[in-house]
Amino acid sequence: MSDCVFCKIVEGQIPSTKVHENGLTLAFMDIGQVNPGHVLVAVKPHVENIYGLDDALAAAVFQTATRVARAVKKVFAPEGVTLFQANGPAAGQTVYHFHLHIVPRYDKDGMHLTWPAKNPPREQLEANAAKLRVVLE
Ligand code: 5GP
Ligand code: ZN
Repeated sequence: MSDCVFCKIVEGQIPSTKVHENGLTLAFMDIGQVNPGHVLVAVKPHVENIYGLDDALAAAVFQTATRVARAVKKVFAPEGVTLFQANGPAAGQTVYHFHLHIVPRYDKDGMHLTWPAKNPPREQLEANAAKLRVVLE
């Protein structure tokens, strides 16, 4: 995609600070750096979001993320690591080329994800799970 910033990074048309690369994925430093060592793992082909990933890309991106997370732990010794991945504006996606954030975390580092749990009754869980099972079969 000619107007996609991550395609341009993958193709070397704009600069990036690369961390790791293989046939299907590229890991590079997020320009915003929520904490030092904040890395993005992107798929190389232009795929907008998780819905368009085939099995090979899905596997590759998580394999790279796992390797990078271990490296981040070793190098920065964070207190934790958060994986964050957004699909669509309501989810916080701002670059529409599939990528996953690996964010080193520290107590009171200012990164917040509010988690408004609704704790619905079991029947509601069952009904919604049944709908999903039909689609997944
Ligand atoms: P999203 O909100 O889509 O999950 O995150 C997009 C991320 O891409 C942001 O954290 C932002 O800092 C990062 N980003 C946007 N443009 C560039 C760029 O040109 N280079 C790099 N390295 N990161 C970028
Ligand atoms: Zn792209």
